Amino acid sequence: MGQAKAAMMEDEDNLGLVEFMEELIKRDELIDPAAGIAKQVIAKGVNSLSDKQKVVIEKVVDIYKRKNKCEICVDGNISCLSDYIYINENGLCPMCEYDREKFMRD
Ligand SMILES: [Zn+2]
Repeated sequence: MGQAKAAMMEDEDNLGLVEFMEELIKRDELIDPAAGIAKQVIAKGVNSLSDKQKVVIEKVVDIYKRKNKCEICVDGNISCLSDYIYINENGLCPMCEYDREKFMRD
């Protein structure tokens, strides 16, 4: 269990967790303690977090993912966490939005 959790966080890291946290802070999407922990992720990286802090960040990511789902692919085309920010603004993920624009042009 502990190990699975750690692996998951590494995954989130690869998906651009730091960038994602920067965007959330820029948009005032976070309140303390999540905001403070997000700032620590940005300054010192995910590995500087305690287990408790990691759980908070995981929850933030989880809730944001659930709140922002691509209407077309239902997140099948998501490649990084920042795509969820894009969905928040456009209702679609970048890939589906690209397809839609192409469709509109044709
Ligand atoms: Zn999509």
